[in-house]
Amino acid sequence: MLQTRRKRTLLVDRDKIEWYPAVDAERCVGCRICFDFCPKKVYELDAATGKPVVKHPYECVVLCAGCEPKCPTGAIRFPRREDFEHFVRYE
Ligand code: SF4
Ligand code: SF4
Repeated sequence: MLQTRRKRTLLVDRDKIEWYPAVDAERCVGCRICFDFCPKKVYELDAATGKPVVKHPYECVVLCAGCEPKCPTGAIRFPRREDFEHFVRYE
């Protein structure tokens, strides 16, 4: 199916929108899939544990959760999407 990409506009400044992942360190096995996958470099690896930390949260694309299903242990969580939809307008 052909999809057209719509223009997205954030209706408030990005640093006012708390949409970004959280990593459950207990579940994380340090496979680095999320770190390698994220094109926005939201994650950095902790020098001591080798596990990802959400170092640049406001670089995360609002309403994207692309890395969540990549995690083999379900360690990545995002907030409820419906609570953030009003921050984005599509044209
Ligand atoms: S949702 Fe996308 S931009 Fe945000 S942390 Fe995951 S891969 Fe990076
Ligand atoms: S993909 Fe999941 S298990 Fe792998 S490093 Fe990221 S959070 Fe940890």
